[in-house]
Amino acid sequence: MNILVTGGAGYIGSHTCVSLMEAGHNITIVDNFINSKKEVLDRIKEISGKDFKFYKADVTNEVSVEKIFAENSFDGLIHFAGLKAVGESVEKPLEYYYNNVVSTLILAKACLKYKVNKFVFSSSATVYGENQVPFTETMELLPTTNPYGETKAISERILTDTAKANPDFSVSLLRYFNPIGAHESGLIGEDPNGIPNNLMPFVSKVATGQLEKLSVFGNDYDTPDGTGVRDYIHVVDLAEGHVAAIENLDTGVNVFNLGTGKGTSVLELVNAFIKINDIDVPYEIKGRRPGDIASCYADASKAEQELGWKTKKTIEDMVRDSWNFERKNY
Ligand code: NAD
Ligand code: UDP
Repeated sequence: MNILVTGGAGYIGSHTCVSLMEAGHNITIVDNFINSKKEVLDRIKEISGKDFKFYKADVTNEVSVEKIFAENSFDGLIHFAGLKAVGESVEKPLEYYYNNVVSTLILAKACLKYKVNKFVFSSSATVYGENQVPFTETMELLPTTNPYGETKAISERILTDTAKANPDFSVSLLRYFNPIGAHESGLIGEDPNGIPNNLMPFVSKVATGQLEKLSVFGNDYDTPDGTGVRDYIHVVDLAEGHVAAIENLDTGVNVFNLGTGKGTSVLELVNAFIKINDIDVPYEIKGRRPGDIASCYADASKAEQELGWKTKKTIEDMVRDSWNFERKNY
């Protein structure tokens, strides 16, 4: 297939581009580098040994998007481009709604015009809000606690309504759990600007000494050790989930959790990092972070049954590969 990848220079997008090309697909990337670096494109080429077309453009710009669709003939699209910092979305809601929702509208419109009938969307487990774990795809979505989560829920609705109104147009809404890890080459990985918000990149920067110590946000949750539980998924497994999703895209609206189905606590993850990498990570217990829930993990059975995809990598693989990327690139 010829696949347009928006946000392909980003963390999940870059790994997915590698997996798509390994599976024999041709890709075109569009990215404006608002949260990535152009060197990533060379690294994708180095890992895959393949070349691809690239557009530096903003996918909220309808003229630019129109040009990309007019110049190519795509079979499908994977839409990663978006802003993703939850805390920042509370401070800058308009930027988040504009970037994440307008991009979805413009790309869906272009797909209908140019008859690109496969649309795979990066959604998030955050749309489940405070439902009971494990989260299943049939659960009613509950309000999220931040604008970022709302942009994902709104984009899901836009794409669902568009698919219902246009029987030739199929969508796959992929609800990711917590991607961590990096490509085993250490050439691509998560490289956030400034001080990281997420646990794994923060831990990696404490391990290099760039940050002094980790704050563990709360040890009084109703979880086995009191710290927050999440479903961490290796980014390479997640990337392969996209290949399975676009290759097996059924007509209509398809919703899949992409997770492992297994919860891991903050302390379990930190201790695995310390043990596997044989490096110290000083931490202290602090108060809960506002907006956090106790536990978030997937019922991952639907993707296995319908896409034939399941995760292969372990927590040990994740912490080893995260550290390998960090120490090679900081
Ligand atoms: P990322 O920031 O590393 O990648 C996003 C890419 O999109 C970046 O390269 C950025 O420059 C680009 N981009 C952003 N807005 C753009 C625009 N208007 N036009 C063109 N390019 C633009 O993020 P990621 O972690 O790879 O996440 C990819 C997608 O998955 C996002 O939509 C995110 O919301 C979603 N998601 C991420 C996580 C996570 O924990 N990383 C979890 C659930 C969902
Ligand atoms: N967390 C933490 N310290 C940090 C960052 C995160 O204790 O510096 C905890 C957080 O409270 C949550 C888990 O780690 O329980 C995962 O947080 P992250 O921000 O990585 O993902 P999300 O909150 O989006 O699931």
